[in-house]
Amino acid sequence: MQMKHDPRPAEYLCPDCGHINIVSSHLLRDKYCEHETHCARCNHLLEIVVTDGLGDSMNIIASSLNYEDPAA
Ligand SMILES: [Zn+2]
Repeated sequence: MQMKHDPRPAEYLCPDCGHINIVSSHLLRDKYCEHETHCARCNHLLEIVVTDGLGDSMNIIASSLNYEDPAA
């Protein structure tokens, strides 16, 4: 029985398809900066901002960057 608290992986929901994406650890060091990334499932261009949440948690704000995507 493990009582250890593993650090929570930083995750965010893709605003377009709802896929749970994992945030790379190097992005977590740059808080309050905008990072462009791609959803692992739908490959849409997303912008994420890492902020401090309550306690030791992280808040990740993800927004979809509108771009020309006729194949949506
Ligand atoms: Zn997606």
